Amino acid sequence: MSSPYWGKHAGKRNSNLAKGAHQKHACWKCDELIRTAKYIATPGKGILAADESTSTIGKRMTSINVENTEGNRQALREMLFTAPGTHQFLSGVLMYEETLYQKTLAGKPFVKVLEEGGVMTGIKVDTGTIELAGTNGETTTQGHDGLADRCKKYYEAGARFAKWRAVLKIGHKEPSQLGIDQNAQGLARYSIICQENGLVPIVEPEILVDGSHDIRKCAEVTERVLAACYKALNEQHVLLEGTLLKPNMVTPGSDAPKVSPEIIAKFTVRALQRTVPPAVPGIMFLSGGQSEEEATINLNAMNSLQTLKPWTLSFSYGRALQQTVLKTWAGEKKNWAAAQRVLFARCKANSEASLGRYKGDSGGDSGSLHVANYKY
Ligand code: 13P
Repeated sequence: MSSPYWGKHAGKRNSNLAKGAHQKHACWKCDELIRTAKYIATPGKGILAADESTSTIGKRMTSINVENTEGNRQALREMLFTAPGTHQFLSGVLMYEETLYQKTLAGKPFVKVLEEGGVMTGIKVDTGTIELAGTNGETTTQGHDGLADRCKKYYEAGARFAKWRAVLKIGHKEPSQLGIDQNAQGLARYSIICQENGLVPIVEPEILVDGSHDIRKCAEVTERVLAACYKALNEQHVLLEGTLLKPNMVTPGSDAPKVSPEIIAKFTVRALQRTVPPAVPGIMFLSGGQSEEEATINLNAMNSLQTLKPWTLSFSYGRALQQTVLKTWAGEKKNWAAAQRVLFARCKANSEASLGRYKGDSGGDSGSLHVANYKY
């Protein structure tokens, strides 16, 4: 294991740094949380989001005519996690609960396969969204019940970070103040429960791209939402150094004219400068329905921007890393090597983009991956 702090008892030291850095609550794992978050935000590395729930992965499998069985889900994930050369570009992989306990066909736990490559395991801990009564279809995310016990169990199984997706939408009057506040509170409550149990929380307030609004509207909403999130995180005594942010990029709505990557980069970084404290080590974007190549080019544009960026800006992509891989795999063992080569190319391209060095040579694109009102 390359990182000594992943050892079983590594976090139990109550270091002076941790005490000094954060005295609001008794956090015996502060030191470990800070190091985990910092490691995940290593420049040049990002996260493969492979945490689709059983029903979401079922939709993907249907699109390639593969049956949604446990065996096929295991095969897909083994193909992804053992892809030659990809671990150098990844600091983390996000999993759904079933996957956390799965092994390769040869019997090695996936967590171990990744750990040997220096890749930490993350776990999706929310249980999906429900509608907020009295709103125009706005939602809040569920999963706080029993969360502390689940976090403990996941930590024991090797997980070191977690994800919780809050979903907001832009409409005539949306997001409402109620929607913003409820989701910020939910994210903060989840975050402190994760930290108390040793997991670094990824704070994901996803503002959907659906709509015909322009980029200024998206910027305004993103700033309001992020400001509310950091207010709530502070109020709930979350150790910001031991968190990561997973936001949407600031773009025009899916039904509005497109703008250049340079404009997306400027609006996105400005929204982040205005709202995300420099204590947060890394901002790992979701791809949110952008095509594979768009997601890479936009990330590259942000990292090429000459401006103040106190955090690492990298990727935590699901669809934009996996779409062509899935199609190439098509459920067949004989296609593994080809599919793994595609994953390698996408991971490499995004790693370069996270350093502002992508030259546009990843060799292909998926086309738009947007699905209205997308559910994970
Ligand atoms: P996409 O990159 O497919 O938007 O998803 C990332 C993710 O994990 C959303 O919760």
